[in-house]
Amino acid sequence: MSDITLLASVTAFLQRSHGHYINGQSVQGQGDKTFSVVNPASDEVIATVNQGGEVEANAAMQAASNAFHGSWAKTSPMERGNCLIRLADLLQKHSEELAQLETLCSGKTIQLSRMLEVGASAEYLRYFAGWSSKISGETLNVSLPSFSGEEYTAFTRREPVGVVVGIIPWNFSIMIAIWKLGAALTCGCTIVLKPSEYTPLTMLRVVELAKEAGIPDGVINIVNGTGADVGTKLLTHPLCAKVTFTGSVPTGKLIGKSVMEQGLFHATLELGGKNAAAFLSDVPVEKIVDGILEAGYLNQGQICAAAERFYIPSVHMDAVLELLTERLSAMRIGSPLDESTEMGPLANKEHYEKILSLFEKARQEGNEILYGGRALEGKGFFVMPTVIRANSADDTLMNEETFGPIGTFLSYDDEEELIAMINATPFGLSASLWTNDLSKAMRMIPRIQAGILWVNMHTHLDPALPFGGTKSSGLGREFGKAFIEYYTELKSVMIRH
Ligand code: NAD
Repeated sequence: MSDITLLASVTAFLQRSHGHYINGQSVQGQGDKTFSVVNPASDEVIATVNQGGEVEANAAMQAASNAFHGSWAKTSPMERGNCLIRLADLLQKHSEELAQLETLCSGKTIQLSRMLEVGASAEYLRYFAGWSSKISGETLNVSLPSFSGEEYTAFTRREPVGVVVGIIPWNFSIMIAIWKLGAALTCGCTIVLKPSEYTPLTMLRVVELAKEAGIPDGVINIVNGTGADVGTKLLTHPLCAKVTFTGSVPTGKLIGKSVMEQGLFHATLELGGKNAAAFLSDVPVEKIVDGILEAGYLNQGQICAAAERFYIPSVHMDAVLELLTERLSAMRIGSPLDESTEMGPLANKEHYEKILSLFEKARQEGNEILYGGRALEGKGFFVMPTVIRANSADDTLMNEETFGPIGTFLSYDDEEELIAMINATPFGLSASLWTNDLSKAMRMIPRIQAGILWVNMHTHLDPALPFGGTKSSGLGREFGKAFIEYYTELKSVMIRH
């Protein structure tokens, strides 16, 4: 098999000068500093982008604030939803172009870029669009008695919080930005997005489509650059009413602290995890291996909800590891632009180096690396999918988030001990439990600490289900009905008559 042919529109887009998008216009940026976008499959620079700073941050925040009080406030809830639906249609119309751009910038396989980055993003937009006309308060009965015959009417309103700052990681450069802008816009907020400095291009194209969809100027803005140069300027800006951040736990903690210090209490933090997949002894070996592949290795393991700790009944451990190794050795690793590729490179050099250092750590701690544990020869940031047998629950690889294609395996005998091991982590993003014993599953579900718990499946997000972490994995929820609480302010109104 070979690489697909790049669309002319993709090649032309890459050749443009890239900067920011403010008040409905592409903006080059005032400063001379630029940064490179590197294709992780070839380690070659494919574009350069202007490094934003205070000037661009201020202009974007002002544009978002003007639109919040002006054009977007005048747009009816139904029309807000229609704007998102038209954007979803345009994402689908330009699906191949956006998917190719994403694959070039992040190394995601083209099939996954088409299906998740673009296909799922369009569906999320449609889900959020449906809420625009359904966000409402309630009428309440006043509880205390009236002393002199006066009467009261009371109700609540859900009002948009204002300008939202959305800070995005590199693993899903379109989809995670769409989660944030879809939620913000349907509630009546406007948004300034800061993409990851590794993947700054895709949303620059999406906002052009947003303009074509009829979303007024200033409603969505983009400022590109690093966390220090742009992220902090946006989230400490006086016009910022809410921060929605997806990224690592250390950055999330910094942002949470800064938000609290400035007395800004609207923050959604979607952070990392060290998610567990636990298989009970009634699951046959082949099904366990199917489950492990689903839970741990999609997108090179660069999915926040992916499993990294695998608990296997000791009676099945050897057979599972043997079959898993066989299945991984048949996996097609290669160019992400080849439609038959199942695993592409890691998304950037820093991440690749971090994964190599974790392989080293596993060796130092005497873990048995049954498969992988090394980089692939040649250009690009490719590593092998890896299977590690842990010595104990205390091993680094059983505790530290790798965010890579590394499964670490520990056997167990006792199901009580299993629950304690699953919960013995500061994280609590996701977990999965695999069993055909429904009563057992129903008894274990309330005891597992995670924001989302799957039974007989893993890594499957749905816009109808609230998503977010417990413990150090985050604050707040995206999707479902739950997101509304985080993008609106609840106002109580009481009238005496
Ligand atoms: P990161 O924390 O390094 O960066 C995320 C974003 O924050 C980037 O845009 C970065 O420029 C910005 N940033 C960095 N420092 C900042 C600062 N001081 N102020 C403001 N912004 C700042 O994370 P990453 O490496 O891009 O992404 C990988 C991490 O994201 C993993 O830990 C993964 O688990 C997590 N993640 C979580 C979810 C979720 O929904 N819970 C989803 C995807 C990824």
